[in-house]
Amino acid sequence: MAKRALVVGGGIAGPVTAMALQKAGLEPVVCEAYAEAAAEQIGAYLTVAVNGLSALSQVNAHHVVTGIGHATPTLSFATSANKHIAAMPIGGVLPDGTTTHSVKRRDLYRALNAEAARRGVRYEYGKRLMDASTTPEGGVRAVFADGSVLDADVLVGADGIHSRTRQIIDPDAPKARYLGIVGLGGFVTDRALSSELNAEPGTYNMIFGKRAFFGYLVAPDGEIWWFANVPQREELTKAELVAHSRDRLMELLAADRTPAARIVAATTNADLVPGFNQYDMPSVPCWHRDGMVIVGDAAHAVASSSGQGVSMAVEDAVTLAVCLRDIPDTAGALAAFENRRRDRVERVVEYGAKTSGDKATGGLARLVVRLLTPYFLRKAASEGIGSLQWMYDHRIDWADGSAVLPLQHG
Ligand SMILES: Cc1cc2nc3c(=O)[nH]c(=O)nc-3n(C[C@H](O)[C@H](O)[C@H](O)COP(=O)(O)OP(=O)(O)OC[C@H]3O[C@@H](n4cnc5c(N)ncnc54)[C@H](O)[C@@H]3O)c2cc1C
Repeated sequence: MAKRALVVGGGIAGPVTAMALQKAGLEPVVCEAYAEAAAEQIGAYLTVAVNGLSALSQVNAHHVVTGIGHATPTLSFATSANKHIAAMPIGGVLPDGTTTHSVKRRDLYRALNAEAARRGVRYEYGKRLMDASTTPEGGVRAVFADGSVLDADVLVGADGIHSRTRQIIDPDAPKARYLGIVGLGGFVTDRALSSELNAEPGTYNMIFGKRAFFGYLVAPDGEIWWFANVPQREELTKAELVAHSRDRLMELLAADRTPAARIVAATTNADLVPGFNQYDMPSVPCWHRDGMVIVGDAAHAVASSSGQGVSMAVEDAVTLAVCLRDIPDTAGALAAFENRRRDRVERVVEYGAKTSGDKATGGLARLVVRLLTPYFLRKAASEGIGSLQWMYDHRIDWADGSAVLPLQHG
């Protein structure tokens, strides 16, 4: 009989884990807390790097991203005076010619979950996990906020950065770390403005403003997609985040000679994604216990500046499925999964924390960062993806069971 897998969370890691587990011969069911996918709008759009697309291709789901997104293979950096600093590739090119893509967050959540459902994965919406424990038969029993109960052989917590599963596995697990940044984003449909920007197709433009970091791209249909990172010492409440949004950002961008303020001003309220606190999740000591495991942001959220959160979640999903396929004993499979993933994701978290630290600093430190950044960026650009090759060139081979490393003991 096929093993039953309960996947908690229908974000990014959830549907991809479900598709990968289904391919590995398990029987997945996804339980999502909200009544629909992408109910919460945190951030406007996402960049899915080539390593993530490659992992998705192992479960034949990369076309979900390429079908709704567009290629953004290049990063370009500019100063607050709109002076070009450097350009560099966001990863390389996959054998079929695919490069890093950008996609609206809401579209991606909806498309991945729709694809899993189309493949026959069972979904239960409006099911918020509250608790879980082991059954006498050695399985897992999950309890939901609506009072219902579900039994499974393995429970995968794909429930994001504020994961309940992480806490159930280890009540002493660390909480998400606030990065000192509030993010905002939006979309603009203004033909005149987008042609005036004269942006290179496929280029993601990053601006080191004097007081805020700003990124934008022009999609093939002319729509402008943007985000901003604003240094903010203390975490803001939901009400403060809403109030905080546009006016504060406009004030911070006023000192720059870039198109950023005009892009923000041209964003209608309906197309503005309200402010959100930014976090990462450094080292989580315990990823699994008694048939329960965490994947994606629940286990190791990387700062958004790394552009790797989706890719890490997807790599986890495929690797976990390969482990559960090849190692019959669930505990051994979960240990092998951690063994295979931990070093890599923690290295990416460290890289993300460094890059977002550059955006969060204030006062004198920020001035120093601003002065030194062009030097480091030009140096990095001259190396191509050289120093980040370890991040972008990671590949998972579904067919190759030996890709699962032996367990480390002691
Ligand atoms: C502003 C911003 C910009 C970003 N930009 C990028 C980028 O450009 N590229 C990139 O790769 N990454 C980016 N990231 C990171 C990326 O969004 C995350 O790494 C990714 O969404 C992680 O996927 P996940 O499925 O682990 O978690 P999530 O996407 O958070 O999904 C978790 C799901 O679990 C559900 N859930 C939560 N609790 C429960 C519960 N108790 N019971 C049932 N369901 C539950 C939630 O409703 C949600 O649907 C960005 C993040 C932010 C905040």
